[in-house]
Amino acid sequence: SEFAALGLSDWLVKQCQQLGINKPTPVQENCLPPTLEGRDVMGCAKTGSGKTAAFVLPVLQKLSEDPYGIFCLVLTPTRELAYQIAEQFRVLGKPLGVKDCIVVGGMDMVTQALELSNQPHVVVATPGRLADHIRSSNTFSLRRIQFLILDEADRLLEQGCTDFSSDLEVILGALPAKRQTLLFSATLTDTLQELKNIALNEPSSGRA
Ligand code: AMP
Repeated sequence: SEFAALGLSDWLVKQCQQLGINKPTPVQENCLPPTLEGRDVMGCAKTGSGKTAAFVLPVLQKLSEDPYGIFCLVLTPTRELAYQIAEQFRVLGKPLGVKDCIVVGGMDMVTQALELSNQPHVVVATPGRLADHIRSSNTFSLRRIQFLILDEADRLLEQGCTDFSSDLEVILGALPAKRQTLLFSATLTDTLQELKNIALNEPSSGRA
């Protein structure tokens, strides 16, 4: 299949086929090979472009090779997106039994803290709430994450103007320097260039 030609493992190609995902979209074509090679990636893509699978698939492939601690952190601007992303991890990662944890505002902090300390593979979070947990808790560690995904990064930066950058600083400060970072955005603004400079390491650029 075309997905196999991009480096995707057989079991994931099969998972995709079961969901009617047979032909890679442009953002998947551009982002899968450099991500599987271990590089940072900056993808220009809107909702509907298949950008979620563009990061979920390679993360699942790497996770299947070496499941270890909290493996992947996804930051996304809204609760709705957080649920959709977690769902794609669950469905595509079903053979692995991927354990996810959703960390968004409006839910009980104590329950979330408990889930975070329960060794999920993937944490999908909005920045404000995750930063609150990092500030207030020592029951979980993000020091071993292999992947940071910045989803809809332009919208991530728009939110909460002043507060947000400090939330992001708190989160980045809790992550290991050695990791893979994938950034997806519909637009490329100056602030985004800044974020790219702070968070990414010589990214490959994939446009949709
Ligand atoms: P997204 O852009 O990530 O919000 O994805 C939009 C929708 O497209 C989701 O429901 C995916 O399951 C679906 N999708 C992702 N990749 C493909 C593909 N290569 N072919 C068909 N559908 C896809």
